[in-house]
Amino acid sequence: MARQRILILGGTAEARLLAERLVAEGHLVTTSLAGRTIDPAMPAGAVRIGGFGGAEGLAAYLRQEGFCRLIDATHPFAHRISENAIKASAMTGVILEQHLRPRWQKQPGDRWKPVASLEAAAETLPPGATAFLALGRQYLHAFTTRSDCRFVIRMVDAPEGPLPFADHLVVLGKPASTANQEADLFTAHGVTHLVCRNSGGPAGYAKLIAARNLALPVIIIERD
Ligand code: NAP
Repeated sequence: MARQRILILGGTAEARLLAERLVAEGHLVTTSLAGRTIDPAMPAGAVRIGGFGGAEGLAAYLRQEGFCRLIDATHPFAHRISENAIKASAMTGVILEQHLRPRWQKQPGDRWKPVASLEAAAETLPPGATAFLALGRQYLHAFTTRSDCRFVIRMVDAPEGPLPFADHLVVLGKPASTANQEADLFTAHGVTHLVCRNSGGPAGYAKLIAARNLALPVIIIERD
């Protein structure tokens, strides 16, 4: 196959695997990252970091750099960049490929309570719960009104200032790769509920196995 200039919209483990494969095939690959984490895992090929300035900005970048393929391998809850990719593809004629992870499916033993929004997830917590929030930092706000609950909040990078929760602690780091490690974390902090989104993919699944093994209720925010 002829060498192609390919832009991957990334920020996921799948995007990194894709970049590695396409670079190994001899293509000229650039991965775009939003710049949300301080020390992101770097994919193979070239990397650019930061927003484009909307769909128009992305279209201008595609034209300027002469890309012939655009691959959206972003997180399934990153809606805005995916909408921009569709518009930019229509504006430029650059072919768009969408890589969407399948959602996780409930298994025997799971105690899932599916909800449609962060607000619904916050309302679903019973008073006195100790909730483990496995969400990005931009998704915490809805829970700050629940001063009758305690929150254990996992974050990749330390927060820049105090978080507006009455009772909380921050666990720094990425999701653990094994269910036993996740279960130990839940037990050590007296977690009674897990709150997460139905992101799909292998990287964040260990927490759901841990919750199943501990018979913990999971308030799971489903995709649109
Ligand atoms: P979003 O709401 O869809 O995007 C908000 C804005 O951030 C976009 O309009 C765009 O700015 C910029 N942006 C997002 N992804 C970008 C990328 N790959 N390269 C350049 N600019 C990007 O996205 P989000 O939910 O904040 O997620 C940001 C990134 O983190 C995504 O790339 C996603 O793959 C990754 N991520 C997200 C989650 C999550 O829970 N949402 C989890 C893991 C990883 P402009 O309009 O200025 O171009």
